[in-house]
Amino acid sequence: VQTTNTPFHYEKVDEQFLKELRHLLADHQITLDQGANFSLSTGPLGSFRAFRSSQFLDIESEIIVRPESTDQVADVVSLAHKWKIPIVPYGSGTGVMGGTSPVYRGILLDLRSLNSVLNVDPISHTVTAQSGLVLEHLQDHLGEYGFMIGHDPWSQPIATLGGAISTNGVGYLAAKYGTMGDQVLGLTVVLANGQVIRDKKTSKDSMGPDTKHLFIGAEGTIGIITEATVRIYPIPEYFELLSFSFQSFAQGYQAILDMQRLTVSPSMLDFTEEMDSNVMPSYHEIYLHLAFEGSPAILETAIDETYRICSKYDGTRLDLVRSREFWDTRHASAEAYKASLNLPVAERRERHSSWRKDYLHVTIPPSLVLAYRAKCEAITDHYGCTVTEWSVWGRPEFFSFIVGEPQPGNKIDGTMDTIIDELLMAALAFGGTIEYCHGVGLKLSHLIHEEQGAKKAVLNLLKHSLDPHNILNPGKLGYFYPGDLYHS
Ligand SMILES: Cc1cc2nc3c(=O)[nH]c(=O)nc-3n(C[C@H](O)[C@H](O)[C@H](O)COP(=O)(O)OP(=O)(O)OC[C@H]3O[C@@H](n4cnc5c(N)ncnc54)[C@H](O)[C@@H]3O)c2cc1C
Repeated sequence: VQTTNTPFHYEKVDEQFLKELRHLLADHQITLDQGANFSLSTGPLGSFRAFRSSQFLDIESEIIVRPESTDQVADVVSLAHKWKIPIVPYGSGTGVMGGTSPVYRGILLDLRSLNSVLNVDPISHTVTAQSGLVLEHLQDHLGEYGFMIGHDPWSQPIATLGGAISTNGVGYLAAKYGTMGDQVLGLTVVLANGQVIRDKKTSKDSMGPDTKHLFIGAEGTIGIITEATVRIYPIPEYFELLSFSFQSFAQGYQAILDMQRLTVSPSMLDFTEEMDSNVMPSYHEIYLHLAFEGSPAILETAIDETYRICSKYDGTRLDLVRSREFWDTRHASAEAYKASLNLPVAERRERHSSWRKDYLHVTIPPSLVLAYRAKCEAITDHYGCTVTEWSVWGRPEFFSFIVGEPQPGNKIDGTMDTIIDELLMAALAFGGTIEYCHGVGLKLSHLIHEEQGAKKAVLNLLKHSLDPHNILNPGKLGYFYPGDLYHS
């Protein structure tokens, strides 16, 4: 496969390209103002958490382009293909891995004008919408029909449908409805040469591999999603919250495994051990928040069974006020993020870098979650890092934790980037994956070969044949990471 150190022949878009672009779009759909470009591509990945990729956070795209239809996306992509100009698809820029930060300048393709609901089918339980629609707006629209989407991330008020599919995100209701990708029935996608492919809206065929999976979680490197048909669900008539506290993480985790074994199926599961280092001696709180949906009879059985299982592991039921508070504030971080967008870009960048911790989200086989946690404790203890939170979200294999910087007096020297890599490599050694919901972006590109193994060569071949000039989000998912170009 091709290997080159100069991925792009262009250094700057020239007048002829701009002339052809202006022929395709109206003036208000093209922005050349550098300040605006930089502001847009400044996302939540601050230089501290980006570690070795932080150098790329200072790169600005040259042009922002705002298409308003699939045809316009196809026209712009065809033109970029002809001129070999990189394109970064942009949903809302809330991705925490730097997926929308350009590595090679070029075009930032702002998809937020593709924001219409195209069809709600309450009989088939599907909605078709354009990819730049904010999830919360989709949710509000469906509410009028008595339906909801099954993807409810913290970032529901700010993230788009296309961004959620492109990162295969996870939300509060993943315990019942799965990841965002699990809910996709069909996609309309623009390929790197401008060709448009459209899926049908049915859930299953047996006519060869299903190409939609090429684009789910692909972070815009294989195609640009312009429309999606996803499953919708009737808003449950009864929705019951239930919370417990536990003496130890192991006891709470065993309760979760018992619930899974006995097919007690919550729609929401959030299990967290939190350490508050501001309180001395440091104070741990371990709680399990659950939600159940269904008829009163189903709820009664599920809640009785959950109570029995949690009691077996010394779980104590918490007041409903605690459950409500947890549920009602689940989008607070997104609202705060939205408010921060009004700040000057320098202040935002400073803010995002002042949080000197990293939040890891790995997948571990449930039989090994407790052993993996013990391994992480050994690693962080070695380096003198504090873990302020351990958690399981949605499914027993989705394991997250927050690691702080090494403190002075640690037993072994280590920089935060190498410690994080060691923790992620340990997840791979336990048969897991290095990220379960945010994607790879810039931040984890250097580990993609370790994560994907031999599969990477197959994906490289696919990428190379579909996008021979590597114009689609270069530098992400390990495609054209500088110094680590196409591997055969
Ligand atoms: C406060 C906060 C809370 C968060 N909570 C969660 C959470 O609970 N769960 C979770 O999973 N994530 C969460 N995230 C991360 C982020 O919101 C998700 O990754 C979200 O799905 C990204 O959506 P977006 O529209 O902002 O995508 P962007 O950030 O714009 O894009 C993400 C990636 O997808 C690509 N892309 C975007 N749109 C398209 C398209 N139409 N076609 C092809 N490629 C595209 C981009 O190039 C980029 O690589 C959170 C982020 C913040 C700031």
